[in-house]
Amino acid sequence: MQVASTISQAHALFDVLPRPLGFVPTMGALHEGHLALVRRARAESVAVAASVFVNPLQFAPGEDLARYPRDAEGDRAKLAQAGVDVLFAPSPAAMYPPDFSTSVDTGAIADVFEGAIRPGHFRGVTTVVCKLLNVVRPDVLYLGQKDAQQTAILRRMIRDLEIPTSITVVPTERESDGLAMSSRNAYLSPEEREAAPSLHHALQAVRLAMASGRSKSDAIAAGRTRLHPLAQLDYLDVVDANSFNPIDTISPPAFVIGAARFGTTRLLDNLWIE
Ligand code: AMP
Repeated sequence: MQVASTISQAHALFDVLPRPLGFVPTMGALHEGHLALVRRARAESVAVAASVFVNPLQFAPGEDLARYPRDAEGDRAKLAQAGVDVLFAPSPAAMYPPDFSTSVDTGAIADVFEGAIRPGHFRGVTTVVCKLLNVVRPDVLYLGQKDAQQTAILRRMIRDLEIPTSITVVPTERESDGLAMSSRNAYLSPEEREAAPSLHHALQAVRLAMASGRSKSDAIAAGRTRLHPLAQLDYLDVVDANSFNPIDTISPPAFVIGAARFGTTRLLDNLWIE
């Protein structure tokens, strides 16, 4: 695996890779969820690129940027082992010189749910992914269903801006008790770790209740009863998969989405309804 840490090194390496080129952007602290994306890219592409970059633009002041888990060496070993050809691992200074001032804004879809709780978060995500796509120029971008709103927003950006990259969405990898794998799971205390799968159970209860014809408010109430007392719910809802507008009856494609805090750790999860 070759590693680029500056934009010019990246261009030199990416420009000569054979095609199709699959690309997996990450913030590192890699787990099996990330590696599922890499494996899918490896199976479907001639060349595979990955990035590890903890993007300061998508963290608000007071969020966990400084303590976000980092494991540069472990990440490199895992990506090399999984068959990545080129890793792009830039510093913040390489991505954002002092006079960097452009941002990419996808409008209302970025202002609801995660966007309402974390104002500006998705603008940071779309800006960095737009820049990464211009550096890597992949044929296929591999994204996780785990971050369903992010995936819908990036799909919108790519469509609206005619970026010549297609998206492949990879299902969520879970621990054996149902907890969606996440780099932030490392923050959980043993008690919080035990409580955390209840978010997944709540989503399952909502989906089941909706599928058996109960009203959305009944279904959400059924979901809430499955949450562990340690869980502080930010939202639990059923949304259209493309617009992220709440919907009252299941009309696929849709998601049951949820976010909850366990102590100081916020976890997200969702279930696809088709
Ligand atoms: P992150 O490092 O959290 O920015 O995630 C990088 C990519 O990995 C995103 O496309 C995520 O949606 C995806 N991802 C994160 N967790 C999982 C998971 N448990 N299963 C599948 N994909 C995931």
